[in-house]
Amino acid sequence: STRSCPSRHVVLVAFPFGTHAAPLFALACAIAGAAPAVSLSLISTQRSLESLPPAPVSLSLVPIDDGLPEAADPPASEQERISLFLSALPKTLRAAMDAAVEKARGAVATCVVSDAFMWMAGDEAAEVGAPWIALWTGGPASLFAHLRTDLLRDTVGVGDQVIARHDELLSFVPALSAHRIRDLPEGIVSGEIDSLFSRLLHRIGENIHKAAAVLFNTVRGFDPVIDAEMELCFPNPLHLGPLHLLAPPPASCPAPDAHGCLPWLDGHATASVAYVSFGSVVTPSLEELANLAQGLEASGAAFLWSLRERARELLPRGFLDRTRERGLVVGWAPQQDVLRHPAVGVFVTHCGWNSVLEAAVAGVPMVCRPFFGDQRLNGRTVAAVWGIGVGFEEGSMTEEGAVRVLETVLKSEEGKTMRAKAGELKASAAKAMQPDGSSMLNFNTLLGFAINSLTK
Ligand code: UDP
Repeated sequence: STRSCPSRHVVLVAFPFGTHAAPLFALACAIAGAAPAVSLSLISTQRSLESLPPAPVSLSLVPIDDGLPEAADPPASEQERISLFLSALPKTLRAAMDAAVEKARGAVATCVVSDAFMWMAGDEAAEVGAPWIALWTGGPASLFAHLRTDLLRDTVGVGDQVIARHDELLSFVPALSAHRIRDLPEGIVSGEIDSLFSRLLHRIGENIHKAAAVLFNTVRGFDPVIDAEMELCFPNPLHLGPLHLLAPPPASCPAPDAHGCLPWLDGHATASVAYVSFGSVVTPSLEELANLAQGLEASGAAFLWSLRERARELLPRGFLDRTRERGLVVGWAPQQDVLRHPAVGVFVTHCGWNSVLEAAVAGVPMVCRPFFGDQRLNGRTVAAVWGIGVGFEEGSMTEEGAVRVLETVLKSEEGKTMRAKAGELKASAAKAMQPDGSSMLNFNTLLGFAINSLTK
């Protein structure tokens, strides 16, 4: 069968920052599982590759130059690292692709699957006559914000003038009709529209229709308005989500739980615990952390808080001692397992797409405190499209606000409705992952591209 054809070589190209590499890695593992005889290469920076779980045997990890100048101090900020990495492209990508071919004993790339952020991988694929497939790892709404950047700027304007219109709905962009001007990522109509990063996002919007297929980490039916737009914009939009369930780690090898979060949760009643995490990038301000801590304390709710060690000292004096009985603060939690635990009743989140999707497919309603990038659009999807979460009225976290939203989700009728709706998303995600479910069928279509090298 075609699935055992050894000359097939699928090259996956990650965007090596934040949590971008994880969904692409999950996809690579799923392809490895379905087609073990196909050679797979995953290109990312050494630093990013080291952060991934162990790879299956047929997946070879190929480092790409991170663009950092040799013999210089490492950059102070992640932004600077990103800029240097981007400035060194596409030469570095070409070199990594050559290295991938060499490692695969000369097998040329027969298909290139890249993070959409690495749109220049499309040019490399074209160069060797392979189809290019792009994975959008963020919330689908944000891709449409980048696709429609010119229209948004022409219609809404750019800069300070948009502030007065912050609450207006973006009705003229169907995919964003539930979202407001204020929800747009910075760099579209506000913020630094000329930054390297904004220009990168704009270029994605301009290039992504060259992809033979566009993959989304979501479930068909989660947002029918956006699904319809995808059909109009792309030849092969494929919903493959939730990617973390496409090739989950075997039960014999669960995510590490160094701080005992799961046994701690076992001691709590169903839907009673607030789980708090702001992902791997964001640290809220000192003031907001203090407000949330006081709100958690005043609410009386049990809570599990994933908070980096260095942020712990920002908590109010005595907070950890006073809440020892009903709170657990850890440096890192096995979040997917935590969200699946029946004791978790609400997730206080920064609305990174992975977090939002993991919660939705676990049936957990959310309290949203988005910070930057696609997070505001994602938060709006949670609250206004899915109806499974609330935000802070003030935008940022206040003590009273925290007490109020925790009460709403954990105790009120409105909270029960949210939980019921989240349960529906959970059920439909489970259905999508059945052998004849939408995500599985789409995965088979992807295998068709990757392995049989179908073209448009
Ligand atoms: N995560 C985790 N444990 C933690 C905090 C986060 O496993 O204590 C994982 C979480 O499950 C998610 C990812 O880190 O998969 C965060 O990704 P997201 O897109 O939500 O946010 P980002 O970190 O990119 O801002």
